[in-house]
Amino acid sequence: MIKRACIYCGTTDNLSDSDIIPDALTNAKIINPNVCRIAHNSKFSDYFESKVIEKLATITNLLDVKSSKGKQYARYPMIFTIGNEEYFTKIASDTEVFQKINTSLDGKTKIGPIDKILKISGASEYNVTAIDINEREITKKIILNLEVFFSIEMYRLITKIAYEWYCLHNNICNKIDAFDDIISFITTGEGKNPVQFVGNVALYKALDIIGSYGSHTLIAYIGSDDSVNIIVSLFGIAIYNVQLLPKAIKECQNNCIFQELSLDSQRKKFVFKSIKELEDDFISLISSAQEIPKGVNNNGVKLNIAVLDDTSFVIKNMYLEGFNDMQNNIMCVSVPSPQTYELLKSRIFNVFQISALTLKGLKRFVHEHRVFWKESFKLNPNGGDKKNIFLYYILLITGISCFQSFKELIRYLKQKLGKSEIALTDELIKDFEQIILSTKNYQDAITDGADIIDTWEN
Ligand SMILES: [Zn+2]
Repeated sequence: MIKRACIYCGTTDNLSDSDIIPDALTNAKIINPNVCRIAHNSKFSDYFESKVIEKLATITNLLDVKSSKGKQYARYPMIFTIGNEEYFTKIASDTEVFQKINTSLDGKTKIGPIDKILKISGASEYNVTAIDINEREITKKIILNLEVFFSIEMYRLITKIAYEWYCLHNNICNKIDAFDDIISFITTGEGKNPVQFVGNVALYKALDIIGSYGSHTLIAYIGSDDSVNIIVSLFGIAIYNVQLLPKAIKECQNNCIFQELSLDSQRKKFVFKSIKELEDDFISLISSAQEIPKGVNNNGVKLNIAVLDDTSFVIKNMYLEGFNDMQNNIMCVSVPSPQTYELLKSRIFNVFQISALTLKGLKRFVHEHRVFWKESFKLNPNGGDKKNIFLYYILLITGISCFQSFKELIRYLKQKLGKSEIALTDELIKDFEQIILSTKNYQDAITDGADIIDTWEN
């Protein structure tokens, strides 16, 4: 039996399961069990992981990703405007905004629940105005600092993810000297930085087509200079290339690997030794699909129906089609340019525009919003949150149609809207709003929908 040891230092003592992607950044766990507990698992959290997790709080929160250890979603900063006043707040859910007292940016005005406001010393009916927030136009601005994507902490984290993932898929269970430079960069942040930001827009688009929204994707490939590289796509927002080794080593035979980890915890994967092996597999996949199954049509003509395992076909096809770009045209960026920031901004904008429906996210929405439905609640069409309107629409149609399961809801949406990942354009939101507000007693249908969703099993 092979004796297992830490892939960073070679110790056999006190090995632990390392979350290859930190728990707070993914809903789909992957583990490398060959990492020693203190020096190379816990300490990475202080060195670089916690800072990245904190800076990405807005993204994880809005994608319904949270640490399995914590109860709450990460808090994130936001500025909201009512009338002429701007307020800064930090929230874990958008329902928190008006539960507490927030001070305007100029420090002159406070907003909050009226009973709490009146308890502030000096507050009286003379200087406090009651407003109905359901009647006011509210705009919300999310604050994101893009520097985190180019920080040393991010580069160390991305290298760690690439290294632990590559070792896992090559059954490496000990420290190998060939990785010394990589290990040193991860553990100390010193030495040559192996990470570069990928600027080739075609690669982002290719991953968009195969992947579901908000996924992490990892790809191992051999570069045109024979180097071993790992592509790490973080939430489909930022793609990095990590040069792990100057050339392949005999201990690591698998160099054509793909894995996608989606927001609803789905995993797609293949592992091959080389691009040649993948090509052979792909050809046999196509030829087998052309042979079976056979049928006879109405006119007695024999039919050959091509049936392919969709997921596997699509991801293999993507790898083969993207291979040339990966090898020769990845357009790596070491120092971010204005174009790099534009690319990142448009990727983030996409993430906030598109709503992928997951059962986890839907249950969270019900849980957080239910507190407001006790008395006669009404929807504020000017509340400044498109995703809210979309999810209220989901609750409404669930309440009206009494779907038996999450799957049934998804099937309905696919028929009606074409897909379950929906770009929340202004027109579409207007349509949803119209449907909700024109439904008689929409509040009852919404709470019925919420009750139904509560009964759905994960
Ligand atoms: Zn160790």
